[in-house]
Amino acid sequence: MRIDILTLFPEMCERVYSESIIGRSIAKGLLEIKSHNIRDFAANKHHNVDDTPYGGGMGMLMMAQPIYDCYMHVCEETGAKPYLIYMSPQGKVLTQEKVKELAKMDNIAILCGHYEGVDERVIEAIVDEEISIGDYVLTGGELPALVLSDSVARMLPGVLANDEAMEKESHYSGLLEYPQYTKPAVWNDMPVPDVLLSGHHANIEKWRNEQSVKRTKERRPDLLKK
Ligand code: SAM
Repeated sequence: MRIDILTLFPEMCERVYSESIIGRSIAKGLLEIKSHNIRDFAANKHHNVDDTPYGGGMGMLMMAQPIYDCYMHVCEETGAKPYLIYMSPQGKVLTQEKVKELAKMDNIAILCGHYEGVDERVIEAIVDEEISIGDYVLTGGELPALVLSDSVARMLPGVLANDEAMEKESHYSGLLEYPQYTKPAVWNDMPVPDVLLSGHHANIEKWRNEQSVKRTKERRPDLLKK
């Protein structure tokens, strides 16, 4: 899979995805992530990428032209028309279901807004979908783009040491994950539940399923309803 990030802050993105599990997966060739600086595509001599909004109001808006040209460059470079997602607090809130759907694609591109957002016309012209990472507002789309890239990348075969592990994780099957413990068996007078030390796999599985349902009921009853 290839992910292209269209941003005014490519270094900020590169710093994050070159680390840890995703960084190692890129090095192994399991996926490719590339950041593109929208400013490089500004057609004016000062490389301005933003201007004041028509009708007045506070703040600046990102102009359509540099974003459009940046996306066309990505299309040329990939030889495809990557599914373009605009990270926006006005989009549908990201879910694991959406992450699984996106992970099946070969190419996605992610547009990061800044300032007051982007000229609506470029959204109409090239954006396939708007995605939000939650009902709050951030200063830019870079952190949301990294959240999306990370969540999609870890669904790809080989990225996690054990692909089955993700199926047990919160939200994969609609439930939250069961509580987990590591060594020592007693810490601060708090013992690990006996069943986990029993070596009885069927009982452990049963306990974990029960705990998942209990936890989901207590913390996220809305998920159980779904
Ligand atoms: N004026 C816009 C509005 O009220 O809808 C908010 C603009 S926000 C300050 C700047 C950029 O940050 C957005 O264009 C978007 O790319 C990104 N952003 C902010 N909050 C976000 C969220 N919850 N999810 C995804 N992207 C977000």
